[in-house]
Amino acid sequence: MTATFRTIGIMSFGASYRLARLAAVLAAALLAGLAQTSAQTPSTAVAGVDAALLEDMVIGSRVLADFGVLDGFGHVSARHPTNPTHFLMARSLAPALVTADDIMEFDLDGNAVDARGRTVFLERFIHGEIYKARPDVMSVVHTHSPGVIPFSVTKVPLRAMFHNPSFLGVGVPVWDIRKDFGDTDMLVSNPVLGKSLAQTLGDKPVVLMRGHGDVAVGPSVKMAVFRAYYTDVNAKLQSQAIALGGEVTYLTPGEGEKGDKINFIVIDRIWNLWRMRILPTLAK
Ligand code: MN
Repeated sequence: MTATFRTIGIMSFGASYRLARLAAVLAAALLAGLAQTSAQTPSTAVAGVDAALLEDMVIGSRVLADFGVLDGFGHVSARHPTNPTHFLMARSLAPALVTADDIMEFDLDGNAVDARGRTVFLERFIHGEIYKARPDVMSVVHTHSPGVIPFSVTKVPLRAMFHNPSFLGVGVPVWDIRKDFGDTDMLVSNPVLGKSLAQTLGDKPVVLMRGHGDVAVGPSVKMAVFRAYYTDVNAKLQSQAIALGGEVTYLTPGEGEKGDKINFIVIDRIWNLWRMRILPTLAK
């Protein structure tokens, strides 16, 4: 140690100069690294969009991840509140990690308005094409929900089992990507595939995707998230009921219609519970 200090103490002017230059180069490299990091994780939310809507998207993404409806994949989007030809969606990252700062704006063809180097989801066309086809839809949730997969690959229709998933009472179509597109990688990675999926969804709240997952839509982020959650719960319970054997009694379409009206009345009660569950995870 002493020897090292002595060496520096007797360092020539040239050596000190080289050391200073090295320090300057290192500082510049460090600053460049920081600049790159801040470009990848922007700190500004989408301009002109109410923070409450961004918060709903964050709560929805995280709570569905908490419930195992979403895992490392899947996404929650919202139609832009003042520009119906645009929608909002996080940059490509796991739903449990989404913050308001990660949310980006897209046109309905899936082009980012201001990408700023951020990576975007491959399956954003699911969202854009459904917003094009369904003016009533204000939010879209795409999941790989484990509960629904069996109903996407068998002939057993997913049907409403109890009152919360009563929105399933109108029927749940299944979209099979192979029907029109042959062997694919199963992903909705272009607008043509997205449009085909949106056509199968039709006017329904949920569509299953064969060997892939599902899409739930709604007139708000809260309702789309609620539907994604209860579709998974219903699917798991239906599998259990079928496994018990014998005839299963499902909700009638009339019960489904009446039950779904109650969902709109009570949505804030469950949403506040989910919000309280997620807010601590957002504490800086
Ligand atoms: Mn997917």
